[in-house]
Amino acid sequence: MIVMKQDATEEQIQAVVARVESVGARAQLSRGEEVTVIGAIGDREHVQRLELEGAPGVDKLVPILKPYKLASSQLHHGEPSVLEIGGRKIGGNHFALIAGPCTVESREQTLSTARTVKEAGATLFRGGAYKPRTSPYAFQGLGQEGLRLLAEAKAETGLPVVTELMDARDIEPLLDVADVVQIGARNMQNYALLAELGRANIPVLLKRGLSATLEELLMASEYILKEGNEAVMLCERGIRTFETAYRFTLDLTAVPVLKELTHLPVIVDPSHAAGRRDLVTPLSLAAAAVGADGIIVEVHPKPDEAICDGPQQLVAADFAAYAAKVEAAAAIAGKELSAVPAG
Ligand code: PEP
Ligand code: MN
Repeated sequence: MIVMKQDATEEQIQAVVARVESVGARAQLSRGEEVTVIGAIGDREHVQRLELEGAPGVDKLVPILKPYKLASSQLHHGEPSVLEIGGRKIGGNHFALIAGPCTVESREQTLSTARTVKEAGATLFRGGAYKPRTSPYAFQGLGQEGLRLLAEAKAETGLPVVTELMDARDIEPLLDVADVVQIGARNMQNYALLAELGRANIPVLLKRGLSATLEELLMASEYILKEGNEAVMLCERGIRTFETAYRFTLDLTAVPVLKELTHLPVIVDPSHAAGRRDLVTPLSLAAAAVGADGIIVEVHPKPDEAICDGPQQLVAADFAAYAAKVEAAAAIAGKELSAVPAG
């Protein structure tokens, strides 16, 4: 990171940018009220060899110790990123309520859930067509037929769709339907898939791996950002700990800590963390109150008959009451539910 002197001229700034670019690095200009800072993104060795210390207009070089340069809050003057998806804002003081079934099972189940969550003010609709299952013998999702049903739900309700991509070979049909691509916990470190999405023009919801540190999560997001896709949201969905009383341990400390480290929106998934319906509401309220930028939650008209994750899915008939509570908790953290397309 090259900090320019307060009185550095535009010429001096541009000269530094040109020198950074001459070694194949990217120069990200950040103009503050007081000083201009140039982030040199590329091979650290090459940039160091330029010996910019002492160059005209340069005040000092600050090595960025954080290896996630693009995800880091440092380059944005501490301002949070606000994504816009189908006219709905997410991030800053805009709170997203993302809801829908674990997986697309049938036309009726998908459309009725989409209608219910839309009625209750959801921001986005979720549903998997490609499912990462622990057992290769378990239901793997409806695939292309699932995508078709998601497209129908979107056409009817107007809700933008979040759906998971597991295999880069499915990217084209998936991008025809998805407004946000979810990368599941098990693929957080599938770097080839992340880079592929970095080259696509689509927002990404990146879930934290089951045993991933926050730095590993941020480095994974960097694979997407580095390719030019800036629309990334992070998602805390529970991590593995020694505790066995519930499915995963929802790491709510990650929310304020991530918000300090990165400008990217932070979403919480209470459903997969808890694995149990009765825990989903209290965890959602806590997540909203602690400052999450949104919640992604599973809802099903008849969870007892669900093909997967039945025990944790909220009953659709109870969803409106749940949404109202979450909205109130988000307000505690100064956030407003982003339900209808902004003006
Ligand atoms: C899901 O959202 O349906 C899912 C499988 O989540 P995770 O990758 O967090 O387990
Ligand atoms: Mn699920």
